[in-house]
Amino acid sequence: MADNVYDILIVGGGAAGLFAAASAPARVKGLILDKAKAPGRKLLMSGAGQCNLTHGGSIKDFVSHYGDNGSKIRTALYKFSNESVKKFFENKGIPLIEREDGKIFPRSMDAKDVLDCLIREGQKNGFSILSSCDVTEVIPGDIYTVISSKGIFKAKKLLICTGGCSYPTTGSDGRFLKVLEALDLEIIPTRPSLVPVSVEGYPYTELSGVSVKDITIEADGHKVSGDILFTHNNFSGPAVLHISRYVKPGTVIKLCYCTDRKLNEIQEELALLRKDKSSGRKEALTVLNSLFPGLPSSFIRKIFADEGFDEHRVFAEFSSKAAAAFLSRIFTDTYKVSGTSGYSTAMATAGGVSLKEISLKTGESKKYPGLYLAGEVLDVDGDTGGYNLQFAFSSGYNAINDAVGI
Ligand SMILES: Cc1cc2nc3c(=O)[nH]c(=O)nc-3n(C[C@H](O)[C@H](O)[C@H](O)COP(=O)(O)OP(=O)(O)OC[C@H]3O[C@@H](n4cnc5c(N)ncnc54)[C@H](O)[C@@H]3O)c2cc1C
Repeated sequence: MADNVYDILIVGGGAAGLFAAASAPARVKGLILDKAKAPGRKLLMSGAGQCNLTHGGSIKDFVSHYGDNGSKIRTALYKFSNESVKKFFENKGIPLIEREDGKIFPRSMDAKDVLDCLIREGQKNGFSILSSCDVTEVIPGDIYTVISSKGIFKAKKLLICTGGCSYPTTGSDGRFLKVLEALDLEIIPTRPSLVPVSVEGYPYTELSGVSVKDITIEADGHKVSGDILFTHNNFSGPAVLHISRYVKPGTVIKLCYCTDRKLNEIQEELALLRKDKSSGRKEALTVLNSLFPGLPSSFIRKIFADEGFDEHRVFAEFSSKAAAAFLSRIFTDTYKVSGTSGYSTAMATAGGVSLKEISLKTGESKKYPGLYLAGEVLDVDGDTGGYNLQFAFSSGYNAINDAVGI
């Protein structure tokens, strides 16, 4: 074999590509090509620079955190689980901590420690990194040929880890999907995920910064729970980020801000309160604040204003019509989606190379033996909480271990 042929060429030095190099089971002649000025830029931004690299608990619970494709990546996750990720980093001298909410970070809370570790371990395994190298074409064969802005490279095995489309300034701008499409690989159309959602007639501008805990949102047959944050022009917060993978302009979303009580229970309680003279003399706002202790007072006041009810009127004047309008906002606040805030703020990308194209155990292409895909370039997007990096690590590990094959 010619000297200039690499054992493994990795296109994309992000979380998946760097982890693959760092976890190769043997030393190889390897090279990572990355179009950005430096590798791992998105990894450095992850978890607000603190790198929430996986989640605690059982790996069985992970599957439900990747939308409709979760069950398809079960094998990949089980083969290299969150426990494996934890062991990997701790063995390489990166102690971790698990927060109360289950998110796992390096104890230093510094993503740079994670990035430096991956680069160092990759180098030990024989990988060097060529930055500012934009790969524009892949020519399959017994030996893979890769055309790039820095010349032509050849390798026995090729691992594609070019990421999704979000935060395009990090280098992952989705353009490589065109290169893969030219290889006749099926691409599921991409859209921003983990992104704030805009709706027609958004009413909560003045509540910007207010959040409501434990709400549910339904969209297109899917339902998620979590907290919501009102911003000046859209809905944000974990529940909204998680439903965002299912919405497009025109999708109807229904928000329920009271999830621990049923509507009919509240209706009955309101009817009893209305009969109670001492409640009747109180301000309506005071009575409703005590009925919904979990809801911010500013939010209740806003709904009063929207529904044309003077918050200072006494509860006895809170008619059943006003109550019905109020409860409808609390239990089924309904909007039509006008869009999302796009790839510039999305933390993940839904869509990408169809999972039908690969072995779900190894990430190897069914059409092109020796070509592997890992990470966000695939049609996988997880919830916030460490699920996206976990998939990047699991898929990167599985691919390199099959490719090196010892
Ligand atoms: C702001 C932000 C915060 C996040 N926080 C978290 C978090 O805390 N926890 C979590 O689990 N997930 C988080 N994520 C998501 C997570 O960072 C990604 O899912 C993960 O980085 C994907 O890894 P990847 O290797 O597949 O792609 P990337 O990390 O995006 O890497 C892809 C690499 O490929 C390179 N590339 C692209 N095209 C080419 C080409 N043509 N030629 C050569 N190189 C190319 C790019 O330059 C890039 O370096 C966050 C994302 C963002 C945007």
